[in-house]
Amino acid sequence: MTVTKTADVDGTLAQIYELAAAGADIVRCTCNEPEAAEGLARIVPRSPVPMVADIHFQYRLALAALEAGVHCLRLNPGNIRKPEHIKAVAEEARAGRQLLESLGLRERKGLDLIACPSCGRAEVDVIKVAQEAQAALSERNLPIQVAVMGCVVNGPGEARGADLGIAAGRGRGHLFVKGQVVRVVPEADMVQALLEEAEHLVAEGVDARLAAADAGAAAEAERDRQELLAVQGEDPNAVEQRVEIIHKELS
Ligand code: SF4
Repeated sequence: MTVTKTADVDGTLAQIYELAAAGADIVRCTCNEPEAAEGLARIVPRSPVPMVADIHFQYRLALAALEAGVHCLRLNPGNIRKPEHIKAVAEEARAGRQLLESLGLRERKGLDLIACPSCGRAEVDVIKVAQEAQAALSERNLPIQVAVMGCVVNGPGEARGADLGIAAGRGRGHLFVKGQVVRVVPEADMVQALLEEAEHLVAEGVDARLAAADAGAAAEAERDRQELLAVQGEDPNAVEQRVEIIHKELS
């Protein structure tokens, strides 16, 4: 569980990524006020693991957390009290679960591999790339934490706690070690490049691989990042519209 105020989006995300890098498969945040629900709407699209909203007494905050996109609610029905309020939350949660199941998105695989949840910024099928990477890495049995991220805008920064990762953008893969881009490869070569770098990393260590980074890789990644931002804008996930809905529902 995070110990930040959930309204503090950057601080909470930093804890979530630390927990994921340490092996957490799921993270819980408190949702004890309208600002926390609005924070969750901004956090969930960027979390590498499923998010649980901790509800205290207010059923409307449970509904707001579901609107924010959380994967699970933790609440005590005895605290909510009114049966019709409990029913409203249960029906909303059931509808969300059915939607995820129908899209084949209910399960997340991978123990040593973190995949971002994907969002409006992703330029590749993150689940497909993650599955390919996991299959290949499992074959080699490499003991490292690897992140597959959908975009270079936020990917390397969000997954800086992972040993190694790759982020997509502008038809290319941006390979990063501890959050620093070390190579840029064609998108079709992403998984192969990830495997090669994983083997080097295990054999040589982080410092050696950072020292061996391609000259100009970080600048190329920044150029692709800026191009994506110019194309997609600052809010491709319609986060502010979600926040607006939550704000109206709770005011
Ligand atoms: Fe984060 Fe980019 Fe993945 Fe969206 S696509 S969750 S912004 S890394």
